[in-house]
Amino acid sequence: MLSFDFHSPTEQLDLPPFRDKQIRVDVKRDDMIHPFISGNKWRKLKYILESAVTARKTHLVTFGGAWSNHLVATACAGAKFGFKTTAFVRGDEVANPVLSLCRVFGMTLIFAARSAYRDKSALFNTYFGGDEQAYFVDEGGYSTLGAEGCREIIGELGETYDHIFCACGTGTTLAGLHMEKRSKKLQTALHGVPVLAGGDFLKEAVSRLCRPIPADDVSLHTDYHFGGYAKSNETLTTFIRWFCASTGILIEPVYTGKLFYAVFDLANSGYFQPGDKILVIHTGGITGLLGMHARLFTS
Ligand SMILES: *Cc1c(COP(=O)(O)O)cnc(C)c1O
Repeated sequence: MLSFDFHSPTEQLDLPPFRDKQIRVDVKRDDMIHPFISGNKWRKLKYILESAVTARKTHLVTFGGAWSNHLVATACAGAKFGFKTTAFVRGDEVANPVLSLCRVFGMTLIFAARSAYRDKSALFNTYFGGDEQAYFVDEGGYSTLGAEGCREIIGELGETYDHIFCACGTGTTLAGLHMEKRSKKLQTALHGVPVLAGGDFLKEAVSRLCRPIPADDVSLHTDYHFGGYAKSNETLTTFIRWFCASTGILIEPVYTGKLFYAVFDLANSGYFQPGDKILVIHTGGITGLLGMHARLFTS
């Protein structure tokens, strides 16, 4: 229905640790889908926007933190497909390059105190309860429709993998992969790398989207959050700089840096079998670098 379709390419990472361990590691370049409706954000929005069109809604109302990739993606997709967009931004009013991008794409921003932000339906109803045009899109695109879009990642692959890895915020991407794995009866092991501390909550978050069968066959690697959401340290930034300089693929410290660090760490510690084929999904999110370039790229 929405005229934008792009199958991201897959490329092999031919790097020493993988050669030494005789494993093959490919990257699904979802970061190439679009510069601002990046990676899994497009996959998650695709069916959400289609359902908004079907319901004859013209105004997307969504939620996120001040550095949210989801807000930029929603703002840009709204502009592209003719929706008005509004976002409730968590916390006190701030200015930053991500929020500027949102405004450039025509999004209206409403800053909400953390206490009010917690009850998203109440916020929506207070402001837009009487607005027939307004369509609620949950934070990060967390929804079954969002997961449906992420299922398509697997359908685009030219081969089957022993392991597939993705970074996890809300768990929607992992839920989509799980739904597709189940329906195709694949043997592939699915792995999530939570970027928040206490990532075990994701088991339930994923299960909620994957009804009726609980997602009991995904592995969560909960020790790679580096202190919590958007937290990082010297080890992580050193790794990211080495990775970018060795591959020509840009990753960032909030999501994909932690994801690739985890895959390298697991490979080095002998987690995989020789001959294993591993796919790592680059979920995009490069706009996250706008706030960190000083720390990451000046030496
Ligand atoms: C939002 C985001 C994620 C988190 O995806 P979920 O489906 O919410 O788990 C992962 N990677 C990047 C780059 C993101 O922007």
